[in-house]
Amino acid sequence: MYSTLKNIAKSILPKKLLKQNERFFRGLIAKRYAGDNMQCNICEYNLKQFVKRSNGDLLCPNCGSLSRTRRLYSTLINLPLKGKVLHFSPPQSLSSKLKAIDAIHYATTDFVGEFSTDFHYDITSISADDNTFDIIICYHVLEHIEKDTKAMSELYRVLKPNGICLIQTPFKDGDLYEDYSITSEEGRKAAFGQEDHVRVYSVDALNNRLQAAGFNTNLITADSDSFSGFRDETYIKAVKP
Ligand SMILES: [Zn+2]
Repeated sequence: MYSTLKNIAKSILPKKLLKQNERFFRGLIAKRYAGDNMQCNICEYNLKQFVKRSNGDLLCPNCGSLSRTRRLYSTLINLPLKGKVLHFSPPQSLSSKLKAIDAIHYATTDFVGEFSTDFHYDITSISADDNTFDIIICYHVLEHIEKDTKAMSELYRVLKPNGICLIQTPFKDGDLYEDYSITSEEGRKAAFGQEDHVRVYSVDALNNRLQAAGFNTNLITADSDSFSGFRDETYIKAVKP
């Protein structure tokens, strides 16, 4: 139902108009999903159910958040959330929520301009001083970066001592798979699952590279929660000692 409504809207309305009024159109669609069974923790909309995507992910029809984004929000608000926070490639549902928190100085960044952000940092050469940020959020970014170990040492450099970097990428079982000789979009999609990915990590491989960059790491495997639309997932809490 969700994709049908979305496709109808896309076919009859100019893209710019859709983008400018995304909130309004989402609201219309969300009404069809309103109910008392579940709740999005980001927009606090009460739902009959989340929208199940073809890959199994659970989308909030009201704010567009994915399950990993809702889990991330719940993780963040349970941290001591203070100081300077830097968020790479932030989903809009979460960035507007975090921007409203007075206790933090929240900054967003995206290199390719896919998201509207405060900065356009190159993660392999971040234009910020050493020891700048208290918290860095780096979700679903490193699998796009060829020089990922350089990116990890940059994250380490700009993080304050005792600062926390929350990191996640898509994961596979077994070994890490990367092959820089695969450069075509079709080749990358077939090899790594998306046309702009350059590798697929295993949890251990990402963890090992973060440790090699100097971080103390904590692997967190979280269970699903149907009320909040969380799926089983793993993320890494990397702390600069
Ligand atoms: Zn929501």
